[in-house]
Amino acid sequence: MGLDTRFDGAFLGPMAENADLLEELVVDAIRDHAYWRRNFHPEDSPSIPEASRYAPERQAIVARTRHVLRRLAADLKHSVPWFSPRYIGHMSTDLLLPGVVARILTTLYNPNNVSEDASGPMVRVELRVGEQLAAMVGYETREGASPRAWGHLTSGGTVANIEALWNHRTARLYPLALAAAVRDLGLATSPEPVLGCPMERAASWALANLTIDDALAVRRRVYTEVHARHGPEVLGALHECAEANSVAALGLVEFLSRHELGTPGIVVPHSAHYSWSRAVKLLGLGRSALYGVDLDAHMRMDARSLCEVLDALERERVPVLSVVGVLGTTEFGTLDPIDAIVGQRDARQGRQGFGVHVDAAWGGYLASMFRTPEGGLVPRDEMRERFEYFPSESVYAAFAALGRTDSMTIDPHKLGFIPYPAGAFVARNREIAALLVESAPYVFEDPSAPAEAQIDFRQLGRFILEGSKPGASAASVFATHEVLPLHSDGFGALIASTIDASETLFDRLGALADRLSDAATLVVPFEPDSNIVCVAVNPAGNAQLDTMNAFMRRLFDTMRFRAAAIPQVHEFVGSVTSVSGDRVEVEARRELAARLGLELGSFDASGARLVVLRHTVMNPWLLRGTPTPIEQYVSFLERTVRRLSGGSPSDA
Ligand SMILES: *Cc1c(COP(=O)(O)O)cnc(C)c1O
Repeated sequence: MGLDTRFDGAFLGPMAENADLLEELVVDAIRDHAYWRRNFHPEDSPSIPEASRYAPERQAIVARTRHVLRRLAADLKHSVPWFSPRYIGHMSTDLLLPGVVARILTTLYNPNNVSEDASGPMVRVELRVGEQLAAMVGYETREGASPRAWGHLTSGGTVANIEALWNHRTARLYPLALAAAVRDLGLATSPEPVLGCPMERAASWALANLTIDDALAVRRRVYTEVHARHGPEVLGALHECAEANSVAALGLVEFLSRHELGTPGIVVPHSAHYSWSRAVKLLGLGRSALYGVDLDAHMRMDARSLCEVLDALERERVPVLSVVGVLGTTEFGTLDPIDAIVGQRDARQGRQGFGVHVDAAWGGYLASMFRTPEGGLVPRDEMRERFEYFPSESVYAAFAALGRTDSMTIDPHKLGFIPYPAGAFVARNREIAALLVESAPYVFEDPSAPAEAQIDFRQLGRFILEGSKPGASAASVFATHEVLPLHSDGFGALIASTIDASETLFDRLGALADRLSDAATLVVPFEPDSNIVCVAVNPAGNAQLDTMNAFMRRLFDTMRFRAAAIPQVHEFVGSVTSVSGDRVEVEARRELAARLGLELGSFDASGARLVVLRHTVMNPWLLRGTPTPIEQYVSFLERTVRRLSGGSPSDA
């Protein structure tokens, strides 16, 4: 297995094997751009006269430029060697050439995707990228469909997560604002099906517990009814009044006190990225609004604990804005049971409503393996033939459920092999965007018109967190998706090769554990769900967590990236993380202690952490050559463990 030969033309390569191709494409981009400038108004006379080429002043600035750039190039030699198969640390590797060249090409034009006026064609390209990502995860993107998805690029997953929470907060609290507006204007509405009573009579708790789809549907029904009964002017007044009553206008404190509600909560697994804590702080909810769910033995959100947390919040009358599942945790690459989360949302509809967001900053592109070129889901049996272990039943179920979630974060600059910055936010129901803008350009003449008529995404900056933003990111992602479409036979084939390499590493580590048994206990603490593989090593005879952690730190020291060092000192570069005992279900942490030969209660103390090596297995070339980089790494690990645990290196 491993990467097929077509991908040999897709990267610059660890030894810059495709340097000639990159040079040709970049030179072509520069020449083509120069012709574009010259042909804008060929009749104009040049602003920089040819004769000034020889002027000493021009020479001076050119010399200075060359000098500074050489210095910069020298400094850059201390960069992280992402490209190398010796790098298996953080979430980056070599870049796909189409994305690199598209970015360089587009930077010359400098489109600003805040709006079509500032960008030209790249805003549409960005919206197209949003649709490509939406289709990959199973959202509906066809014109006229309802709900219809949309998506756009961000500077990264952090901003996409904050934006998700902003979207969910806006949509989930909207029914309260609309009901207040209906009451303020003294309107009488028909009984609303999902509330079971007219809007103006609904209780705060009921209004605060609609799903996102229901909230948007209620809005459309009430608008349609008010328009039919009272005409466009009253509808316009209702719209303005709902806006004046919105959380955006009043602020969270005033809004909640008017509706006699406590601060709403966000439910996340304990493995969630720190951007969630940042998001609740920024949106004024506070860190105490974050409710953590325990992890199971696979380091996935424990479905039973999720139920308990949701039940407790319902009892305590805490509205839940959103439940967040992580598809590819940053630390362990594990995949939460998205199917169980959407199952809970559906089961609780009518009494406890919440939005479902999937933080797939890391794992989003894994979905390309599950999508057929025709747009369907690849059957699990077919995938099982391709891999040794992947995808487990629960992993498959998580991916199959993505289409039923409300929104997703996906980072092209991680598993999309695209240069920074490129994250993405994708929402299943684009109508949510209409709630984000002040004085939405609403078509009051026809409130039942499709959302597209109400939302002009070409004014992209109105609907998102960021302002000026690089059209070059959109070009980069788009070109990559066009060369490698987001299905099993395109991009999926590249992602599949990272799973191959992970499975190979997992097997080799198993064999290494046997070989090392005299010197140390080596354990893969949880079976990898995808392409991040963690390893824990306890020197023989030790049962103390602290001693083992100290050993792990020394082990990691041999593969730590040192920016100040000569690059060649790095034999392999890895990364390190830790498992918090008190975040993991008690049986799971006891079992892990037993496997490592540690005292049974060693993770029970509050704050106890187990240090593990973390390998991000995404370099395309890990299974090429004899020996392969995976084999080289495993023998490096064997040598190092023997040396550090006191065994003779010649044993290796
Ligand atoms: C990387 C990551 C983020 C943050 O994304 P950035 O692009 O670094 O801002 C958020 N969530 C998860 C799960 C991640 O892996």
